[in-house]
Amino acid sequence: MTERYADVIIDIAHEKVDRVFQYRIPEALLEAVRPGVQVRVPFGKGNRERTGYVVDISEDADYPPEKIKAVSAVDEKGMSVEGRQIRIAYWLKSNYGSTTIAALKTVLPVKQKLKPLEKKKVLRCLSAEETTQAADECERKHQRAKARVLAALQTEEELPYELIRQKLHVTASTLQALERQGYLRIERETCYRNPVRTADRSEARPVPNQAQRHIIEDVLADYRAGRPGVHLVHGVTGSGKTEVYLGIIEEMIAMGKQAIMLIPEIALTYQTLLRFYKRFGDRVSVINSTLSAGERYDQIERAKAGEIDVMIGPRSALFTPFANLGVIVVDEEHENSYKSESSPRYHARETAVEIASLCGASVVLGSATPSMEAYYRADRGEYKLYEMKERPGGSMLPAVYTIDLREELKQGNRSMFSRKLKELMQDRLSKGEQTILFLNRRGYAGFISCRSCGHVMKCPHCDVSLSEHRNGMLICHYCGYQERKPAKCPSCGSPYLMGFKAGTEQVEEAIHREFPGARVLRMDADTTRRKDSYERILAAFADEEADVLVGTQMIVKGHDFPGVTLVGVLAADLSLNRNDYRAGERTFQLLTQAAGRAGRGERPGEVVIQTYQPDHYSVVYAAKQDYQGFYGEEIAYRALVGYPPVEHMLAVLIVSRVQEEGEALGKEMTDLVKREMADIDGLRVIGPAEAAIGKISDLYRHTFYIRHGAYKILVEAKDRLENFCRERELKGQTVQFDFDPMNTF
Ligand code: ADP
Ligand code: ZN
Ligand code: ZN
Repeated sequence: MTERYADVIIDIAHEKVDRVFQYRIPEALLEAVRPGVQVRVPFGKGNRERTGYVVDISEDADYPPEKIKAVSAVDEKGMSVEGRQIRIAYWLKSNYGSTTIAALKTVLPVKQKLKPLEKKKVLRCLSAEETTQAADECERKHQRAKARVLAALQTEEELPYELIRQKLHVTASTLQALERQGYLRIERETCYRNPVRTADRSEARPVPNQAQRHIIEDVLADYRAGRPGVHLVHGVTGSGKTEVYLGIIEEMIAMGKQAIMLIPEIALTYQTLLRFYKRFGDRVSVINSTLSAGERYDQIERAKAGEIDVMIGPRSALFTPFANLGVIVVDEEHENSYKSESSPRYHARETAVEIASLCGASVVLGSATPSMEAYYRADRGEYKLYEMKERPGGSMLPAVYTIDLREELKQGNRSMFSRKLKELMQDRLSKGEQTILFLNRRGYAGFISCRSCGHVMKCPHCDVSLSEHRNGMLICHYCGYQERKPAKCPSCGSPYLMGFKAGTEQVEEAIHREFPGARVLRMDADTTRRKDSYERILAAFADEEADVLVGTQMIVKGHDFPGVTLVGVLAADLSLNRNDYRAGERTFQLLTQAAGRAGRGERPGEVVIQTYQPDHYSVVYAAKQDYQGFYGEEIAYRALVGYPPVEHMLAVLIVSRVQEEGEALGKEMTDLVKREMADIDGLRVIGPAEAAIGKISDLYRHTFYIRHGAYKILVEAKDRLENFCRERELKGQTVQFDFDPMNTF
C-alpha cells in the first residue's frame, strides 16, 4: 500500500501563513483526513501536540519517510469556518494551479497587530440650508475638499468618517479644520447603530417594481427550498439591479444570514457605498485596495466575530469568513478584473459559485452585458436567467450612429473626429452639455517609427514598441524603461521620426485645436497613477468642471453623469485584435457600456461610434444594443473553433532566461501531454510558440495551449505538467498556468 502524506498548516490564528509541514497519515485516519479538516499533530522538538489544518494530501514524501511524524488525531467537530477557508484554498490550488502557500495567502488574511477598533462618524452642526450656503462659500474660495464634505452633509446629517475620507478624498486635517470652523463634529464611538442619518426624507427607498419583486422572491424561494443555485440578472444599466441585490441581502439578514457583495474596484463609488450604508447601517463593511493590511485584517476579524452582515469589495472580499453565508452577489460579473492576474489565477465568478456551494448559499450575478460564460450556462439551464429590459424612471436609450472612418478619409477628413462627431460636439458645447470621448487603449497611440525607413523604436528589454509621451520621453509600458526621443532615426539618420495613431494625450490636444475654449479632463493610466486620482477626476467631471472627458476603458464604468448627452467612441475596432478570442466580446461590452453612459439624465443621449470595421458583428449589435443577437453569433463562433465557454482552455507560459531553453522546455511539455494523454478524445495541444510578447525585462516567453470540453481533463494535464516540473527542478525557468484566460500571454 502506498503511504499518504498530509500537508498541515499549524494554528493559522497565530502563525503567519508561510509554512506547511508534512505528516504521515496513519491507516486508521485515511478516510477522515481531507483538505480543510482540523487535526492534532506532534510539533517541534518536544513533540508538543498542536492543532493544525490539512491543506493538501499527496503520495510523495518531501523528506526521508522515516523522519516524517504521523498525524495523531482528527477533530470530528465538522468543518469550521477556518476549515472551509482552507478547503477553498485547496480548491484554488487544484483548479487554477499554484503553490499551496500562494493559495493560502489568497484566502487567509495575514495576521496583523490588532489595535482596538474605533469607529468615527461625522455629524453636521448646521441646518441643511446653512450647510448649503457654507458649501457654496467654500466653492467660491476654491476650497474643493471642504465643499465636497459640506455638499455630502446637505442630505445626510451623519456619515461614517471612513466613507468621507476614502470616497470623497478628504484629508483628516480638512475635517479637523471644518470641525474648528464649527460646521461639523467628529464623534468617536465604540459602537453605533446607523452611521448614516438622512435629513432628506423624500429620498426614501423605492418600492420594487414587478420585475424586481419577481427576482427577489424567486431567489429567496429557491434558497428556502434548499436549492440555492446561481441566478443571472441581465439588466441594462440603470434598470434597478442594485435595488434587487439590496432586497435579497435584506431578506437574508432577516433570516440571520450574511452576504458578500462583489463590485469591481472602479465601481465602488461614494454613491454606491452610501446606498449600502443607508440600508444596512453599521452592519456593512468595505474592503478595497486602499486599505492597509492591518485595516483589512480588522475587517475580516469583524466578520468572523459576527459584527457585520455584509462585506462589499472587489475580488478579495470573496474570502470573508462568514459563519452563515446566505448569498454572494457578483455585480458587473463580466468584468475582466474579476480574474486574478497572479497565481492562483482564479476567476471570482467561478470561485463564488464554488464557495456558495460549500456554504449552501445563493449566487446572484448581474450585468448589462453578461459574459459569454454566464449567459451560456444560463442558456443551458445551469443558471436561472432574469431579464430587466426597462429603466424604472423610463429614461430613453440613446440614438447610436456608426461612422465609417474609411469613408471620412475618402472625403478628405484627416482629423480624428468624424464630421458627425464634430457637429454634435459643437452643438453640446454651445448648449453647455457634456461629452465623453472614449479611446480604446492607452499607449496604442504612442508608437514611433521612421517615415523614411520604417524603423520602429522598441524597448531594448522587451518585445514591444516604446510609447511617446508629451514630455518628449519614449516609455516602455511593460518594464518602465525610458529614453529621450532621438532627433534622428537611429537606423537611417532621417529626421522624420514620428508617432502614428492617436493616444489620449493627442486627443486632448486635438480638442483644444478644434474647439478652442473647451474645458477638457483626461483620464488614463497616466493621469490616474496616484491613489484616488481616478475618483477625483470623475468627481470634477460630475461637478461639471469640464465640457469633455477623454479617456480609456476606465471611464465607461461606474459613475452616472446626468450632464452627459453625447458619447463618442473614437476608434471602436482597436480592441478587435485578432490573436485574442475574446476580442469580439470585449468590443461589444465596451461599446455597449460606453453607449450606456449617454443620456442618463432627463435629456436623451446620442452616441457616435467611429470605426474602420462598421460591418463587424460586435460593432453592429452594439449599435443596435442587441445583446441576444451578439450572443447568438459569438457563441456559434466559439463552438465552431472550440473556445471557452463551449470548451475549456489551459494556457501555459514558460518564462526563461535563455531563449533556446524556453523553446526546448515547451517542446518537452507538449510532447509529454500528447504522449501521456493520447487516449483522450478531443484533446488538442497548440504550440509551443513564442508568446504574443516574446520578451519582457530580458526574460523570454513561450506559450502553448491545451483545449478540451471537460475542465477536469485540463486539470489533469496541469497536474502532470506540474509533476514534471517538480521532478525537473527547473533553474532559470518558471512555468505559469492560466485556465480559460482573459488575456493571451
Ligand atoms: P442598476 O444597478 O441596474 O444600474 P439601480 O438599482 O442603481 O440600477 O437603479 C437605477 C436608479 O433607479 C437608481 O437611482 C434607483 O434608485 C432607481 N430605482 C431602482 N428601482 C426603482 C424602483 N422600483 N422605482 C423607482 N426607482 C427605482
Ligand atoms: Zn529611418
Ligand atoms: Zn521594456
